[in-house]
Amino acid sequence: MTLRVGVIGVGMIGKEHIQRIAHKLAGARVVALSDVNEAAAREVAATLPGAKVYLTGEELIAAPDVDAVLVTSWGPTHAAYVLAAVAAKKPVFCEKPLATSAADCLRIVEAEIASGRHLVQVGFQRRYDRGYRALKKTIDDGLIGAPLMIHCAHRNPTVPEAYVSDMAIVDTFIHEIDALRWLINDDYVSTQVLKPRNTKHTHSKLDDPIMVLLETASGVRIDGEVFVNCRYGYDIQCQVVGEEGIASLPEPEAVPMRRNAALSTAIMQDWKLRFIDSYDVEIQDWIEATKAGRVNGPNAWDGYFAAVTADACLKAMHEGGVAPIVTSPRPTFYA
Ligand code: NAP
Repeated sequence: MTLRVGVIGVGMIGKEHIQRIAHKLAGARVVALSDVNEAAAREVAATLPGAKVYLTGEELIAAPDVDAVLVTSWGPTHAAYVLAAVAAKKPVFCEKPLATSAADCLRIVEAEIASGRHLVQVGFQRRYDRGYRALKKTIDDGLIGAPLMIHCAHRNPTVPEAYVSDMAIVDTFIHEIDALRWLINDDYVSTQVLKPRNTKHTHSKLDDPIMVLLETASGVRIDGEVFVNCRYGYDIQCQVVGEEGIASLPEPEAVPMRRNAALSTAIMQDWKLRFIDSYDVEIQDWIEATKAGRVNGPNAWDGYFAAVTADACLKAMHEGGVAPIVTSPRPTFYA
């Protein structure tokens, strides 16, 4: 059976997911599109034989020939579309964030539990990255013993002028927030945000770099650097220190060169290329799991946990000190 997918939001990532479903992946077809910019939706639809354009996301969700929904619109619109999909009992893949407030994420969690079916997946694609998976397997296999500390970094060469301090948490570090918790099967209990001296390459509305400290329930300590004007490249680092050894996220493949009296390896500049393969694996897995009636990837609870953690990081960043990370008890539905 071919999964008939409706996509809400045909911006940058929406178009990419549509292209991968249409031309790279197996088992699904994009049959419906919707975007506040109707002309943009019609332009994309013209490239997809038989795809219909709906004027609202709600109409697309209700369409009888839409089996599953992909939400790739602007973040603040996510909660309403995900809730509508859950109410219609349709599986929904929602790009991160699941919702822009923890309260809305919790509403989604409660609605999904009430529906009695696992329907919601959140677009935290690092869980599908080959390097992160290899690192997780190393930890899960016990090769470095119990994790004690994690040192990580999320660096961009530059960011646009519109990028402000809160975005370092909600748009950038949010990926570490989800990936690290999954990596070591542990939940966070507190956070602190330290602000070193600013780089001269930042502006008045952006503290850059920052360091996010997280503490987990089992006592693992994490230091995460976010440095979005680092100049030299897009660079994701993660080193897990365990009782018996240390394991690191593999570097992306690149050809080492001996040239001009130097030994060098290129560092990526574009964040999109760093995890490009993981998006393919992620959406293919979502297609297959959806057809089997499951959610394999990050679920609504993970989306909620990330939102609560991000809120605590923002509080710590704005008010100083240590902020507790307190969630509702985890429902057995997500055990
Ligand atoms: P984008 O290029 O701005 O695309 C968003 C699209 O949604 C635009 O076409 C926008 O139309 C449309 N839209 C806005 N409000 C809408 C509504 N109420 N109903 C339907 N469509 C609406 O943004 P993007 O970069 O693709 O990001 C989209 C989402 O994906 C964001 O939540 C972002 O955080 C997430 N994302 C995740 C990753 C990842 O690594 N997992 C990477 C990139 C993006 P207008 O342009 O006319 O407003």
